[in-house]
Amino acid sequence: MKKYFKFQKLSGISPYIWTIFFILPFYFIFKSSSTFVMVAGVIFTLVFFGAYRFAFVAKGWPLYLWAFLLIGISTGSVMLFSYIYFAFFIAYFIGHIREKVPFYILYYIHIISAAIAVNFSLVLKKGWFLTQIPFIVITLISAILLPLSIRSRKERERLEEKLEYANERIADLVKLEERQRIARDLHDTLGQKLSLIGLKSDLARKLIYKDPEQARAELKSVQQTARTSLNEVRQIVSSMKGIRLKDELGNVRQILEAAGIDFVYEEKEAPKNISLLNENIVSMCIKEAVTNVVKHSGAKFCRITIQQLSKEVVITVEDDGSFQCREDRFFSKGHGLLGMRERLEFANGSLAIDTAAGTKLTMRIPNDSKSKEKDGGR
Ligand code: ATP
Ligand code: MG
Repeated sequence: MKKYFKFQKLSGISPYIWTIFFILPFYFIFKSSSTFVMVAGVIFTLVFFGAYRFAFVAKGWPLYLWAFLLIGISTGSVMLFSYIYFAFFIAYFIGHIREKVPFYILYYIHIISAAIAVNFSLVLKKGWFLTQIPFIVITLISAILLPLSIRSRKERERLEEKLEYANERIADLVKLEERQRIARDLHDTLGQKLSLIGLKSDLARKLIYKDPEQARAELKSVQQTARTSLNEVRQIVSSMKGIRLKDELGNVRQILEAAGIDFVYEEKEAPKNISLLNENIVSMCIKEAVTNVVKHSGAKFCRITIQQLSKEVVITVEDDGSFQCREDRFFSKGHGLLGMRERLEFANGSLAIDTAAGTKLTMRIPNDSKSKEKDGGR
């Protein structure tokens, strides 16, 4: 049942339309007068749908074989029963041919054969055929346009896939680069220091009875080296961690308290779909916004709100001071606001500034697309 609904969702109403086209030929066939034509028509139709299935999976010369069979049946049924709608199926199939050469060869052959068959039937002036002229024109137009539009849609999908793949590759490469940098840092700092500690402690061990005083000096230097390497490790680790939103809010609270500004923090819904990179960006923006409040606003009060919406996280920083800058110079006076806007836009977010009463900055940053996809898949 689930599978059925999934199929429905994916293909919309098109299966119903195709079903009508599937039933329609029989209507035309049973209109014809002689039993022989009727039997031939039923056989033709069944063969058509059989061949259609094979044509979709065929590659190389069998593709042409099935395609010619389909086009042949379609042409025959136009002549025999004035049934032209097989052309829809063929156009749809041709649109799905991936290689360029067979696509264009079959595309033109199909159009030409359909046009010839229609002309032929028109010349014979079968009354039934003439009544259908508007539908025939529609069918011919779709035989011309449908394959091209399907092909270009498929092409676009392929390109999007490629782009996604390339983005993943870039992300991997960035990770690799970062890993190499960490390895280099570790090697250059810790590696050297540890071998120094090894050498010095070895020396101290040898000297311990001969020259205890010198041994003590060596051990002291070992201790010193160990301490500096610990500091270096801390530095490396903190440069890797980036700034987390929580830590930044703690810093902000301290800064505002020190400046004697009341701080209110409202978390309407905790951001949960935010990527580490975006969290870093937001943290930096909040820091700059609050620094501005302290530096320029003369406010008594500052409020920060964070809200997780369905597609993005919205952060506002507002104060009750007075804005110190002309509206057209927001982004030209210093680097702070400009930098914020650029960082947010880099992450497909935005920055809005409202200076009607005090200053209110509204930052929007989209959710992490990957975690959203995961949520959707669950
Ligand atoms: P920088 O951030 O590079 O140190 P800056 O703070 O002057 O310099 P921006 O952060 O871009 O530059 O801000 C531009 C200007 O907007 C500021 O000089 C200030 O006049 C005004 N401004 C910004 N935020 C506020 C605020 N919260 N209250 C009042 N004025 C502000
Ligand atoms: Mg600033």
